Amino acid sequence: MSSGQKPGPLDRELLTSWLARVAIHDGCDPLVLTSAIWPKWRVWTVDADRSLADEHVRRVASWFGLPPEKVTSATLMGIGQRLHGSLKPNLPLWPWIVSLGNRNRLRRAGMPFCPECLASDTQPYYRLDWRLAWIVGCELHGARLVDRCERCGAVAEPHRSVAATGDLAHCVACGFDLRCTQRSPVDIQALGFQLLATRVFNSGAGDWGNASISASEWFRRMRSLAIKDLCKVDKRGAAALGNRQIGLWFELQGPIEREARMRVLSRLVSEVDGPPPRAVGYAAVRCQGKRPRAATKSVPKKIKMVPIAKARVQEDWARWLRRNRLW
Ligand SMILES: [Zn+2]
Ligand SMILES: [Zn+2]
Repeated sequence: MSSGQKPGPLDRELLTSWLARVAIHDGCDPLVLTSAIWPKWRVWTVDADRSLADEHVRRVASWFGLPPEKVTSATLMGIGQRLHGSLKPNLPLWPWIVSLGNRNRLRRAGMPFCPECLASDTQPYYRLDWRLAWIVGCELHGARLVDRCERCGAVAEPHRSVAATGDLAHCVACGFDLRCTQRSPVDIQALGFQLLATRVFNSGAGDWGNASISASEWFRRMRSLAIKDLCKVDKRGAAALGNRQIGLWFELQGPIEREARMRVLSRLVSEVDGPPPRAVGYAAVRCQGKRPRAATKSVPKKIKMVPIAKARVQEDWARWLRRNRLW
């Protein structure tokens, strides 16, 4: 592939999707293209969708004949900064940004996608919005996002597609056409929370009880609520839907796990209008760096030796499987 004018990212397209898509539709493997752009840097071993160093931006901008801003707009840096103010690019986890758990070229978590969006694309591509942790469903198609292959269970890793795959819509492990994934409707309550969060993000401010707070503070408080002790998911109901709650960080969870937690968050948010429920008040105090008295009282003084519950063992086992990409 030679340098010169090349197609830029599509509407809201992630950087890695753009590079892999252009390479494949030009008949070459993404690795070949990126080795030509950055001969001394292995872009696929890092989460390049989050941010790129200026020197790397300059090289890819020059290769594609695009302004550097066009390249950075395909990363999540701008969104991360709007969410959190300043942000260190090399932090292992950015709150509210889905983490893919990079391990060399492999990922422990799949790239979320809407099968119908991929099916409607001329050249299937992956959107920036699908990496926002509060986005669990497609607002266009009402479908729950998916992050793995329906046939073999492998996580979606479009960056590992090769020229022979033909596009970014096939499972790299078994070749299944991800556009044929069975559609599941997204939970209506979780979708309600998603719409609210998007509104807060876009407007730059949100309501908390009778007060108006900045969007970054709103997301900080909401993230503080999204932990399993405060935002309890009905495990039996979740398991019936095929959802395993295994105590991973919110950003490491798949769409179906996050959806279950957001269902609970939506109920907590609806209560913020009245007297703040205990969990919501706790989140506000936590974010101010204070420890609520009630929370310190509930800490047991002595640790009792008790047998490990079966559910806990199953959780640990599920986490081990996840770490080793076995589900
Ligand atoms: Zn869609
Ligand atoms: Zn597969």
